[in-house]
Amino acid sequence: MNILVINAGSSSLKYQLLDPESGVLLAKGLCERIGIDGKFTYKAEGKKTLDAIDVPMPTHSEAIQAVLDALADKENGVIASMSEIGAVGHRVVHGGEAFNKSVLIDDAVLQAIEDCIPLAPLHNPANLTGIRACQKVMPGVPMVAVFDTAFHQTMPAKAYMYALPYAWYEEDKVRRYGFHGTSHKYVAGRAAVMLGKKPEEVKLISCHLGNGSSITAVDGGKSVDTSMGFTPLAGVPMGTRSGDLDAGILQYEMNKRGMGIDEMLNALNKKSGVEGLSCVSSDFRDLESAASKGDAKAALAREKFAYEVRKYVGAYAAAMGGADAVIFTAGVGENDKGIRSMVCQGLEYMGVKLDPAANDVRGKETVISAPDSKVKVLLIPTNEELMIAMDTAEIVK
Ligand code: AMP
Repeated sequence: MNILVINAGSSSLKYQLLDPESGVLLAKGLCERIGIDGKFTYKAEGKKTLDAIDVPMPTHSEAIQAVLDALADKENGVIASMSEIGAVGHRVVHGGEAFNKSVLIDDAVLQAIEDCIPLAPLHNPANLTGIRACQKVMPGVPMVAVFDTAFHQTMPAKAYMYALPYAWYEEDKVRRYGFHGTSHKYVAGRAAVMLGKKPEEVKLISCHLGNGSSITAVDGGKSVDTSMGFTPLAGVPMGTRSGDLDAGILQYEMNKRGMGIDEMLNALNKKSGVEGLSCVSSDFRDLESAASKGDAKAALAREKFAYEVRKYVGAYAAAMGGADAVIFTAGVGENDKGIRSMVCQGLEYMGVKLDPAANDVRGKETVISAPDSKVKVLLIPTNEELMIAMDTAEIVK
């Protein structure tokens, strides 16, 4: 059964058509500038690539229709008709406490996603628009919602509660939710396979290091703690996000610089992280290049990032009473051997021994620890779309 995976933003829509059983990607692409001038991109193995061609897309409905037309195109398509799409899997950012797993979408689910809008005001409305457009263009095709937050709903209260007035949780739902759940779930599943064990038998520390980064402790196949929090601003420093910080800085700097809370949050989300610290870039490739030319701040930003990731690795080993493997995934985790090496430095005491030769690799599912490393170190390219397709197929089966 082919699954269409949709990741809808406010003016964009990413799509992939996959066969979750074989893992084969049939086609993928992007609709951009929806509601503006409409640009359409389509790529399929052995077919002509369409690269940001003009296609009118006043709304997400026309964008979905363009996707279907391309997929079923006589010459350039990969399916004969829409009937070859068994179901649609939608990425939804926030499921709040309502969803601890992926679900078949009905009216009650749509309402629950809507109820989570205050928790993700930028993302959930766009995700809902994508779902409604698909329902309109593909009537009768089952739709599944796959939430970024769902995997983390297994966290115990001691991990998800903040030490804040209890009413903030009870009345306002302030708690740790965590994000990147689909990615952490996917790589944790692959790690168990690589270790030759059942997911229930292993303790894993999953490091999703990209433009946004989060670390998750996965014990027995379940998320038991994660570094992002109520919002994706928490945890390790990221491309432009600060990560964890002393809240006292907010008042101090807002007074000093006459900033309002919106300006402060904008600075923490968009002007901080390795970009803020390095004064160079949010991209780890630029930082590496600058550091190699002697830029001290760029070197410090990389060192700070790796140091904070390492601290989470240590913390989560402590939280779980040990770990069988540390996983590296996402843009930086999959590609930056220097960061992986810096993260693992000094972790020998807890049985982590990286193999420098094995670590000289990128974007490949492989073991990068030494043969005698008690804790394995795994490089696992993430595949959130495949995870969404697998969940969707499982639910509609
Ligand atoms: P993601 O958010 O997972 O797409 O990751 C994006 C980030 O991965 C970029 O901002 C880069 O910093 C990083 N990245 C991608 N490719 C490389 C590479 N070859 N070496 C180092 N960092 C990379």
